[in-house]
Amino acid sequence: MPVCWLVSQEETHKPIILPHLQPVVLGRGPETTIKDKKCSREQVELKAECNKCFVNVKQLGVNPTSIDSEVLGQGKEVKMKAGQMLYVVNQLYPYTVQFKEDSGVLSGSCKRPIQVSSVAKGSHAEAPSVKAARQTEQSSSSVKAGESREVNESVGHWSQGLKASMQDPNMQVFKDDKVVVIKDKYPKARYHWLVLPWESIASLKALRKEHCSLLEHMHKVADQMVQGCLHTSSLNFRSGYHAIPSMSHVHLHVISQDFDSPCLKNKKHWNSFTTEYFIDSQDVIRMLEADGKVTIKEGTSELLKLPLRCHQCCKELPTIPALKQHLKSHFPS
Ligand code: AMP
Ligand code: ZN
Repeated sequence: MPVCWLVSQEETHKPIILPHLQPVVLGRGPETTIKDKKCSREQVELKAECNKCFVNVKQLGVNPTSIDSEVLGQGKEVKMKAGQMLYVVNQLYPYTVQFKEDSGVLSGSCKRPIQVSSVAKGSHAEAPSVKAARQTEQSSSSVKAGESREVNESVGHWSQGLKASMQDPNMQVFKDDKVVVIKDKYPKARYHWLVLPWESIASLKALRKEHCSLLEHMHKVADQMVQGCLHTSSLNFRSGYHAIPSMSHVHLHVISQDFDSPCLKNKKHWNSFTTEYFIDSQDVIRMLEADGKVTIKEGTSELLKLPLRCHQCCKELPTIPALKQHLKSHFPS
């Protein structure tokens, strides 16, 4: 039977074990290091159902505990799965649950693929704890297809960062013999994962016909990730590849279409997910089947410079803040 761990996304303390069917009460105190007076000493009760890979979360305190953006309410109980974020109080102090076999091997006993760790879920309020949970992205200075470059990856050049993340149990949300799914470290939407093959494939350019079945498997896993969180949201998702990725090692983005995230900071971020720069997973597979390789159209990099246009209604917006404001009308929080 897997063992359940409660993991602080701010890494303020070591993971707390949640024994099978035994209620664990947490709140302000040394176990969580929470000092916030708004948090009761007995704020939440957590009861892990390790066979079924979920945790019953009950709000005991007066101030709101939430799972993702759903507030529980005092005395109310909700099931939390791996892939969801628990905010102990007032949308602060984010935690995820992980189910691991005793050996530390990730559980394969649950039907759903979301078995381990947390989703890369964005937040509406820029609460400091949430920023910390996401590991602060630096200023939005020049980016290639996406990220700030000041971030130092311990494994060397920033472009190799996914290789470290895919090995990091705290980033993994699912793995099998062919692929691993990780949280995107700088999620550009409420839900944003990356599916990576264990096989070392540098980029789309290196793909050949024999990789078709691997890509199909990646696509299937992406679909399962989406299915796994439909119970919490009615958002649409897309799964696809950046035509010109900035990070090494082939990775399939699985991203909800709200683009509600403080990490989405500039025109390049926006256009990389909402223009033809983002190639649907099925299109890549079709191209590979037909031509035995993936060809990127000339001028693709120019797509990143296009004006900001809403992907829902095509309205053009002058700035990123205006676009974000506009998006609220399509995706209320
Ligand atoms: P791209 O290479 O343009 O397809 O996108 C790379 C994605 O990787 C971006 O969405 C980044 O937010 C994400 N990212 C960058 N560094 C890391 C990292 N070390 N671990 C996980 N995700 C990362
Ligand atoms: Zn619109």
